[in-house]
Amino acid sequence: MVRLTWVGMMAADFAPDQRVRTFGDPVLKQGAPDFVGHAGDLTPLVEKMFQVMDREEGIGLAAPQIGVQKKIMVWRDPDTEERHVLINPRIVERSDDTVTAEEGCLSVPGHMMEVTRAAYVVVHGVDMDGRAVSVQATGLLARIMQHEIDHLEGHLILDRTSPDERRRVLKDIRQTLDS
Ligand code: ZN
Repeated sequence: MVRLTWVGMMAADFAPDQRVRTFGDPVLKQGAPDFVGHAGDLTPLVEKMFQVMDREEGIGLAAPQIGVQKKIMVWRDPDTEERHVLINPRIVERSDDTVTAEEGCLSVPGHMMEVTRAAYVVVHGVDMDGRAVSVQATGLLARIMQHEIDHLEGHLILDRTSPDERRRVLKDIRQTLDS
């Protein structure tokens, strides 16, 4: 019988494809190509993404965060708590008005930082039935849309915060890794 070390136990907690990739993992910087194919075939992947989002108590998740290079995002509606999915989302319109607020990310766990986002965006994509959809988003939903689409294009909140905030958080991350 193999005695599991604490690290071994951690790694065994979740299947590799359900582990949230964190800062430093190259998959987060690559950007994902558009999904080409039958949207219905994505059901197992989307179910997995919902499970991971729920487990991590996140309000959004992009496929690259679990190591899948496909342009797919899921989120939880801030008002209704309902879970949604969007395939190949892209921002087609954004307001000049911006909002700056503290933002966190499952891939940068334990760190909040100020990020300035457009106050309003219009996002086009495809739903699970393969239908074209348009989402007009303000408030927290607009922030979620921009955050997850950033993931699909290989950007993290660390790329969006101020140089000072970025320095502060990177220093914290290094200290955590060193200790
Ligand atoms: Zn994130």
